[in-house]
Amino acid sequence: MSDSFDVIVIGAGPAGYVAAIRAAQNGLKTACLDNWKNYDGTMAFGGTCLNAGCIPSKALLESSELFHRANAEFAVHGIGTGEVTIDIAAMQKRKAGIVKQLTGGITALFKANKVHALQGTGRYLGDGKVEFTPEQGEQEILAADHVVLATGSQPFELPGMPFDGENIVDSWGALEFDAVPGRLGVIGGGVIGLELGSVWSRLGSEVTILEAMDDFLFMADRQIAKEAQRLFKRQGLDIRLGAMVQQADRTEDGIALTYTDGKGEQSLTVDKVVVAVGRRPYTDGLLAEGTGVELDERGFIKVDDECRTGVANVWAVGDVVRGPMLAHKGSEEGVMVADLIAGDVSEVNYDVIPSVIYTAPEIAWVGKTEEEAREAGMDVKVGTFSFAANGRAKGMEQAVGTVKMIASRDDDEIVGVHIIGPMAGELIGEMVVAMEFSSSAEDIQRIIHAHPTLSEAIHEAALAVDKRAIHAINK
Ligand code: NAD
Repeated sequence: MSDSFDVIVIGAGPAGYVAAIRAAQNGLKTACLDNWKNYDGTMAFGGTCLNAGCIPSKALLESSELFHRANAEFAVHGIGTGEVTIDIAAMQKRKAGIVKQLTGGITALFKANKVHALQGTGRYLGDGKVEFTPEQGEQEILAADHVVLATGSQPFELPGMPFDGENIVDSWGALEFDAVPGRLGVIGGGVIGLELGSVWSRLGSEVTILEAMDDFLFMADRQIAKEAQRLFKRQGLDIRLGAMVQQADRTEDGIALTYTDGKGEQSLTVDKVVVAVGRRPYTDGLLAEGTGVELDERGFIKVDDECRTGVANVWAVGDVVRGPMLAHKGSEEGVMVADLIAGDVSEVNYDVIPSVIYTAPEIAWVGKTEEEAREAGMDVKVGTFSFAANGRAKGMEQAVGTVKMIASRDDDEIVGVHIIGPMAGELIGEMVVAMEFSSSAEDIQRIIHAHPTLSEAIHEAALAVDKRAIHAINK
């Protein structure tokens, strides 16, 4: 291997590996370095998303949802099953198989695109030099015209309750449980808390979610968040808001969590605790002294809209820079940077990034919430449509949830769409396209949506924006 490249990418998560593949597609000689290590000591590309986040969690969400539906819904369809059981080892084996296939896929894609895939740790030294410490063998200094930093993020640990890999775990640990915990405490009612809380609750855990904020899902549209809270409560999740967790003590009966809420100091004893209170940008050991690459006050690498760090030819993408910590946002930044390095025009539209929470029902949105639109001084009109009146959702026995569309009263342009309901994460795609093309609510009203499909709920919400929904009473 020659030690000089056009581009070196440090980190092979969804931001880094995509940047590396696109750079290679652009004809640039590219290396991608990554030091991810699994619990069993094996190394793999794909970062948190593929190894310990998006992909394994979706595998477990599917398994647990099927288990739940077999127990709760099959009888309604007239299907008799006898006792439905769950084999956690088999469930985990399936999950591990999916992760292995997909991470192996990245290795194959690197090979096919002639990306030099290097397993080990990269450290940016300045002046286009990267120190590479391989898992095995001698440390070496690599050189590149461009360096892309894509080292991702790590879970926050709370003071006084360090992760022990067994009873107090981060999201990765909660994906690896080999038995269903009897009582599971989840600290943080954000995306991870809800997704992992749902997995283990459906499998039989008594799940309590302690969330510091008074508002449930504060980043979501209020109407949708309220509906979500009601539905999750009905599913048996005990969500306690305004609950700031301070301490965890090991007792004979389990782990005693101390938290304060509006009423004072409270206590909750559980068998296992998942800490899901957010993630921090991961830059430990990444930058040598004097590289000129700067971090902001929260530890993110400072970048402009084009992901330039301010040091010539050094770029940073993904969770390690500002913006939502979402794999698809990082990937698009990776594509943009690889194209800009190749001399092409490219940009990321930060106003149109979809968010999805993979609970059941799913929650998905793009653009502004109604509150954000009004706070920004916009005059908006709102249309909603309930899945209770959608024939396909009824047939699926999943007729819960709402589509909410917000459009400008000035020019009818869609400013935000919020969905709670079946397949919301898939449905939001149409609205991402619509917003990218600056569609009006009327554009969506005039587009034919197949019948019977879930997407008709979007069509009806668009009609409802102008009080013209066909299958609802317009108020
Ligand atoms: P989050 O920011 O979504 O939620 C963390 C929650 O913890 C917040 O609501 C916060 O108020 C609460 N909290 C903080 N300290 C607390 C304390 N001491 N006691 C009680 N509550 C406390 O973070 P997350 O769920 O850990 O997820 C991390 C990142 O990963 C997020 O940016 C998220 O968007 C991303 N992620 C996305 C997906 C997805 O797209 N489906 C899935 C998983 C993770």
